[in-house]
Amino acid sequence: MLISGYPITSVKCRASSLVDYGYKVRYWQLEGGAYDCPLEPLTQEFWQAKQDARLAYGILLLTLDARAPGDLLILATQGFYATFDQGFGYLTIPQFLSLHRAILRLDFPQVDILRPLHFEDRLDLFKELETAFEELVLPRKNEAGEYYRRLHELEAFDTAQADSFGVGFCPRCKQRITFGKGFDVMKAYRMDPKTVFVFGTCSHCRNVVATAINPHFTNLWFPTIQS
Ligand SMILES: [Zn+2]
Repeated sequence: MLISGYPITSVKCRASSLVDYGYKVRYWQLEGGAYDCPLEPLTQEFWQAKQDARLAYGILLLTLDARAPGDLLILATQGFYATFDQGFGYLTIPQFLSLHRAILRLDFPQVDILRPLHFEDRLDLFKELETAFEELVLPRKNEAGEYYRRLHELEAFDTAQADSFGVGFCPRCKQRITFGKGFDVMKAYRMDPKTVFVFGTCSHCRNVVATAINPHFTNLWFPTIQS
């Protein structure tokens, strides 16, 4: 089903923690990177006008190979009849868990990476990809009230990055991770000149993680490290 021309499709989900509170789960298969997708269907104004609902949840599921045409977004909206909350967020833990179960049942290659993980690892990765949606994909509003997004995609081995190894910390094992060296990058988006979102495998703990690192941090930081 199209919503205002966008191929955003409802998912059958009967979890009472969602249905009883007016939530609907939807997916949107993008034709390319999430950085490039239209802003309109991710604004509160859109859902208010088209469905009398608010956008309450989103997750960025990255396409990692040629099986899918692009990144996959899962959204949840909540009918206004069921809520006094405005804007994005405000879900309970049972609602998050129901959403995760609904996502794992979807037959998309972007979901495959989540299935074999242990429960707690998967919960962590869900949380990281939910944060990625909120930070990378969900449009922001400037002072003039216009929506914008602030990123572009990097190749995993972008030569522009090679001489400015980004450094951050693994969200799981808290050890230092370095873009392009040790950290096995599966996908990366530059969010702004100082932040790169990376999705890959941490060489320390071997977990698949999604986090933001700072590509220029090295220059400020390494000279102070004792060798
Ligand atoms: Zn780690």
